[in-house]
Amino acid sequence: MSFESLKLFPQLLQNIEEQGYEKPYPIQLEVIPKILAKEDVLGIAKTGSGKTASYVLPILTLLENVKTKNRFTNVLVVVPTRELAVQVQEVFYEFSKGLPFPAKSLAVFGGVAINPQMKRMRNVNVLVATPGRLLELTRSNAVNLSKVSTFVMDEADKLLNLGFRKELDEILRLLPKKRQNLLFSATLNSDVKDLERIMQDVPSILETEKIVIEEKEEDTSTPLNTSVSLITQTGYFVSKEKKGPLLRHLIKENKMEQVLVFTSSIYQADQLTIKLRKNGINSRAIHSKKSQGSRQESLTLFKNNKLTVLVTTDLLARGIDIEFLPFVVNYELPRSPKDFIHRIGRTGRAENPGEAITFVTEEDKHHFRVIQKKMKQWVTMIDSESGAFEF
Ligand code: AMP
Repeated sequence: MSFESLKLFPQLLQNIEEQGYEKPYPIQLEVIPKILAKEDVLGIAKTGSGKTASYVLPILTLLENVKTKNRFTNVLVVVPTRELAVQVQEVFYEFSKGLPFPAKSLAVFGGVAINPQMKRMRNVNVLVATPGRLLELTRSNAVNLSKVSTFVMDEADKLLNLGFRKELDEILRLLPKKRQNLLFSATLNSDVKDLERIMQDVPSILETEKIVIEEKEEDTSTPLNTSVSLITQTGYFVSKEKKGPLLRHLIKENKMEQVLVFTSSIYQADQLTIKLRKNGINSRAIHSKKSQGSRQESLTLFKNNKLTVLVTTDLLARGIDIEFLPFVVNYELPRSPKDFIHRIGRTGRAENPGEAITFVTEEDKHHFRVIQKKMKQWVTMIDSESGAFEF
């Protein structure tokens, strides 16, 4: 099936071609007709499967027949992180080029001055926002949500977490009752109790190669196939002290030119970056204590292949799309298996292969087993201390 058969606005087909998309990905084939039919959708698709375009393209098509009014955005996309807000808005921007009807998009997020964002709000009808800044903007009347016809939650399970609960409830109160709801995530269960808070009707549940996070114990004696099939995973048993040398060794040995490294704390991210730099490896860190300017700059450098190592916390685990990212390293394990899947999902995207490497200390062994069990995939382990390795 081709994009032509999907009843998208004609100009979009040209923009799709310019993006180099040859044919729709499975999630796009499933989701686009549902959104065009104004149905509510719960899209559960593996990371990097093209979910952003699956809602951006039909949303832009629907805008043709929507009345626009200054400060009253028609489309609201809520995302959990600033970087994701920027990334999603870029997709809207690219695809809206040349459309003969208003489709102005804007990303708003905290950590930067609010005034410029307020000024740029004029005639915006697709607003991509993180929850906190969105509410600030509504309180100061820079934006009004009462005319939102399509409400999107990207990385929805994260937004449904306790941490965002109050803000999300407040946002929901500001939205009109009658609206289209689109929820997306790679790790979302369709039985999420919270769904009725958002959707009045039963949504179309679309799953393409869902990543199942099993909450209950089950027999995992047979190795299970995984949906993160484009990702080759390797684990290294390593002591805490040897992690730094092992990472440097792997970077050199594999001639890594672009590697995303996850640590479990801000402190560790900074320490590791300092050490890598001391060893002449071009590295920077992104975490919540860095200014928004620095975060964006590091991400841009990294995406443009001007930075070898980007060290980060789980801040960047979700949704961020780095084209052809070949390597992800879990320098430390995340607590939650879900975060593990989101982390490794930064590679192996858009049908390109990738490699995820995980460092496992003696204390991590049990936890890593739990992660593998929940992921339903067993990872090949290498004992880095066995002497087979020289570093
Ligand atoms: P996403 O899952 O939305 O983050 O998308 C992952 C990557 O896939 C992005 O770099 C998109 O530009 C790319 N992509 C999305 N749809 C297609 C398609 N139909 N053909 C080729 N690449 C695509």
